[in-house]
Amino acid sequence: MIRVRFAPSPTGPLHIGGVRTCLYNYLFAKKNDGALLLRIEDTDQTRFVPGAEEYIIDAFKWLGITFDEGVHVGGSYEPYRQSDRIHIYKKYAEQLINKGWAYYAFDKPEELEAKRKEAEIEKKTFQYDMNTRKIMCNSLSLSAEETAKKLNGNYVVRFKYPENTEIYIHDLIRGAVTINSQQLDDKVLFKSDGFPTYHLANVVDDHLMEITHVIRGEEWLPSAPLHVMLYKAFEWEAPQFAHLPLLLKPDGNGKLSKRDGDRLGFPVFPLQWEDPATGELSSGYRESGYLPEAVNNFLALLGWNPGTEEEVMTIEMLTERFSLDKVSKSGAKFDLDKAKWFNHYYIQQKQNEEFVTVFAQQLAERNIYPGNDRIEKAIALVKERVYFTTDFWNQSAFLFQPPETYNPDVIKKRWKEEIPAQLMQISKILTSTYLFDKEKMHNKVMAFIAENQLNTGQIMNCLRLALVGDAKGPDLFEIIDFIGQEETINRIETAIMKIDNSKS
Ligand code: GLU
Repeated sequence: MIRVRFAPSPTGPLHIGGVRTCLYNYLFAKKNDGALLLRIEDTDQTRFVPGAEEYIIDAFKWLGITFDEGVHVGGSYEPYRQSDRIHIYKKYAEQLINKGWAYYAFDKPEELEAKRKEAEIEKKTFQYDMNTRKIMCNSLSLSAEETAKKLNGNYVVRFKYPENTEIYIHDLIRGAVTINSQQLDDKVLFKSDGFPTYHLANVVDDHLMEITHVIRGEEWLPSAPLHVMLYKAFEWEAPQFAHLPLLLKPDGNGKLSKRDGDRLGFPVFPLQWEDPATGELSSGYRESGYLPEAVNNFLALLGWNPGTEEEVMTIEMLTERFSLDKVSKSGAKFDLDKAKWFNHYYIQQKQNEEFVTVFAQQLAERNIYPGNDRIEKAIALVKERVYFTTDFWNQSAFLFQPPETYNPDVIKKRWKEEIPAQLMQISKILTSTYLFDKEKMHNKVMAFIAENQLNTGQIMNCLRLALVGDAKGPDLFEIIDFIGQEETINRIETAIMKIDNSKS
């Protein structure tokens, strides 16, 4: 059975690139009747951020990405949080030492720093590896007695790469990747405080949890040779690897970083995040008015395509079409217009009533409580112009309150001397209560314009200006019908007064 995992470190909010990694794992698992699990990799205690784990879980709940096993749902490979598995790793580090695949190292941080400085002077970089390990302080260079004595103090366990060996990785996306062990440093696997590093814990857990495919971001490709060698050292069957392409900035210049989002005008996190240390707020897709369907759809297409021209795909359709061989090797540029386009599309697909709650909230923030029927009616009027659910208020404020200002460009272009008198006549037409029916109003006003040979564009734009404050919005008679007779007449009179005053 196919088993994949998403294994984030709770070091802050989840980057949208991480969301995409998890989405691909989800699609792959679902497509192949496999299982997806959520494992929290929190062995680096110095980088632990409170709230990050809950954030990750909430984000996937919002997106509708479900896990078959994991820290929040349990499963038969429990526990799924590495800090709860800390007792497991030591014996594996010892196994590697006993097999000659690892060694104890006792170098103090200041000694390592000195080596680094020394190398820098010669314009080189110091690497703890097969060439330098002999001159460092470790169980390979010290006698057995000295080593035993030093084990009472601080130590780390380092991986011992075999000399001059070609390491071969078969990546499902990139094909064959090879690297010579000569180039690799003896990475730390375990520390005397009892904590494993990412590498050891990750490989041990992938093995114990019977992971068949490791699908993760390209930034982990440099770690893959070590992981492949660890499987070899343990004599375990390695999972298959697939390293996903990077998500790039919209201009294609470099990786989309955590800091880019609010700078470039779109979120890089699924949900809004408040940094617990600094209080700094970073925007999220949810709070910015995106629908989860849209986020899943545009993220899926950043690095993968179905091999057809198809673009709009629900999560079920994505699942059906997904395959790793259609994932591209090269980085995928974030495309804000496309993201917006998808969001607009999915908003139009939804029933109006589905937006009542979110819109009611925007109105309540302004102390406006029109009741659900009117809210739904307003949604029907403006939905087509809404790109984000946060737009409802901006697109429809004039349905609930008179304009506060009038667009000066429209005034200049359309508001001629004769307009006030003409609008007053229209106002009179609209006063005949029996006419308060969209169709009839429309016909009557049009008839008036024709009889008096007025300029339709001009008069209608001025009427719109009086009611909306601008040259925008849905059908004018729909607006009149929504705001009602009294309000319509009031707004016409107010506009005549205010605009004439502003002109004179
Ligand atoms: N804990 C790693 C991360 O934060 C997991 C990398 C992997 O999937 O192996 O992304």
